[in-house]
Amino acid sequence: MEARKEELILNYKKVEENVINACKKANRKKSEVLILPVSKTKPTSDIKILKEYGITEFGENYVQELVEKMQEVEDVKFHMIGNLQRNKVKYIYDKIECIHSVCSYKLAKEINDKCEKINRKIDVLVEVNIGSEENKIGIKKEEAIDFIREISHLPYIRVVGLMTSAPYVLNPEENRQYFKEMKDLSVDIDSEKIDNVEMKHLSMGMTNDYMVAIEEGATIVRVGTAIFGSRNYNKD
Ligand SMILES: *Cc1c(COP(=O)(O)O)cnc(C)c1O
Repeated sequence: MEARKEELILNYKKVEENVINACKKANRKKSEVLILPVSKTKPTSDIKILKEYGITEFGENYVQELVEKMQEVEDVKFHMIGNLQRNKVKYIYDKIECIHSVCSYKLAKEINDKCEKINRKIDVLVEVNIGSEENKIGIKKEEAIDFIREISHLPYIRVVGLMTSAPYVLNPEENRQYFKEMKDLSVDIDSEKIDNVEMKHLSMGMTNDYMVAIEEGATIVRVGTAIFGSRNYNKD
């Protein structure tokens, strides 16, 4: 347990240092970037260790795992970053901090309708498939503005930004262009001044490419492997 604690905190500090350096390079403040540790497949004990260290927000991908962890740890905010099926919204809508993966009207409507019942307005991000990858969910870049207009009429969701998972590449520089496109898209959407829509977050950058993402404007970086180590099974 002690060894795991040292390992996690050391890893976290390294990521934090990289974030600070990327912010400096881009002339941004570190406070503009949330490091969201992605704890999927890792035990709740890891979350508790980081919580004790002062980290209060975590990303999870799978509803069942998320629900279990929410029951096992208190005073932590969870973000749903994985593909969310409509029939599973009911398990998380009342306690999730933010849903990063909204990419269909039906899903947005289901989240809205559930939240209406408890009079809760929930923050969501719209997921964009910036690399137009066939195996990935997300709205096409060209369709993002129309989609956001459409869901902006749903009163119990608040669109607070965009999310993307850039392609897997060996050299993170290869994704710089995609991150730039995401930033440009969020600026375009903001300039439309759509009611109930605010482009304050750009959730992009993972272990492999978060520094480049920050240089291009990320406000949330979702970092799993660099903090928790590699995952044993490959569900994604
Ligand atoms: C797993 C996952 C991450 C974290 O990936 P790492 O490469 O381990 O940092 C980030 N975002 C999403 C959507 C994921 O599924």
